[in-house]
Amino acid sequence: MKLDPELSLQILEKVGVYSNRFSIAEPKILLTTKEVLDTPKEMTEGRRTSAYKYYGVSYLQHNLVFINVRKIPDEKILENTIVHELIHMRFPYLAHGKRFNKLVRQGLKGKLFPPYRKRSKISAI
Ligand SMILES: [Zn+2]
Repeated sequence: MKLDPELSLQILEKVGVYSNRFSIAEPKILLTTKEVLDTPKEMTEGRRTSAYKYYGVSYLQHNLVFINVRKIPDEKILENTIVHELIHMRFPYLAHGKRFNKLVRQGLKGKLFPPYRKRSKISAI
């Protein structure tokens, strides 16, 4: 898709809506490979020069998401990609697979997810 100011705004709005529904802090969004390369190396480590190959990349440690607008062919895949990356943010322990895909489908349908809580390593009675 061609990135223009209107599309950028639409994407950021969608990210805002889904971040609220998933109870996560809104991540910083990168929309071009140039922005990925302009971001400090330590933040994009691992998926930096290879980012262009993907529809989207989540940099979980830095609450940073790359949406590869140029590679994305249509609005449906765009929405899918946004939700996919935000599901990574909400369920950081979860790898790709059936459960992950189910959560993406639920997210696309408007499901609300409560905040993620790390399990305490200490239990007390
Ligand atoms: Zn993924």
